[in-house]
Amino acid sequence: MMRIIVVGAGGRMGRNLVRAIAGEGLELAGATERPGSDLLGRDAGELAGIGSLDVPIIDELQQCPQADVLIDFTLPESSLAHARFAAGSGMRMVVGTTGFTAPQLHDFKSILSENAVVMAANFSIGVNLTLGLIRRAAEVLDESYDAEIIEAHHKAKVDAPSGTALAMGRAVAEGRAVDFNEQAVYTRHGHTGQRENGSIGFSVIRAGDIVGEHTTMFAAAGERVEIRHVATDRMTFANGAVRAAKWLQHQSSGFYDMCHVLDMQ
Ligand code: NAD
Repeated sequence: MMRIIVVGAGGRMGRNLVRAIAGEGLELAGATERPGSDLLGRDAGELAGIGSLDVPIIDELQQCPQADVLIDFTLPESSLAHARFAAGSGMRMVVGTTGFTAPQLHDFKSILSENAVVMAANFSIGVNLTLGLIRRAAEVLDESYDAEIIEAHHKAKVDAPSGTALAMGRAVAEGRAVDFNEQAVYTRHGHTGQRENGSIGFSVIRAGDIVGEHTTMFAAAGERVEIRHVATDRMTFANGAVRAAKWLQHQSSGFYDMCHVLDMQ
């Protein structure tokens, strides 16, 4: 049976991941939290609301029993440390952490250059389908259509725009065959002047307990196309991550995303 370690097991996603692993009948080999967390010593299953799994949450990844895959939805700095561990042990890794800076992402990929890794800003099947639809729409709806991405998340989210919103922006740029970094506009405040033709704008809402909502809008004189995805339950991401872990078991080293897992390239 496949054995999985969940780092950040006490977090919003961590608890859902523990539930998804148990729901698939897979084995939770270990569970960690950050040093100093008041969740250390608690049972990961009990914390996830599914009863004891006899897996106490610890703060030393090195102390976890041997496993096939490490699933990480934490923070960029923590994911870098976890990547060093996975590189040393040859463990496969599924990574959902968002908010990496470009240098962090570069380091992350070079640390894991010999490992098999699935990394995605969003593990839901619906979002990955949506990315394909946006790419296709942007091929047809050229720069005469203003592309804007609006995202909303709960107030505890620490990075903005969301990794999914950025992935949607990149999908627009790919569909139009333009450089995403040159077209992205992240802030508008004060006397901004008129909208630059071809730019890809981002708007961010942080409020309450919103799980994740994304709209990509293509607006021109006389019409508007909106492609929208709404996540209502984090289990959609957790189930996608566990699906990725199962898929990864049969892959050789390489950096993959959810499109590979879902065979949607
Ligand atoms: P959260 O703050 O609820 O959970 C993160 C957990 O990681 C916390 O419990 C924290 O204590 C723990 N942690 C931090 N450093 C650690 C360390 N060194 N070792 C072990 N545990 C550590 O956050 P969340 O809402 O669960 O989101 C986590 C990340 O996942 C964010 O980057 C978020 O954007 C991302 N996310 C991705 C997807 C996706 O589909 N890719 C979906 C939802 C969230």
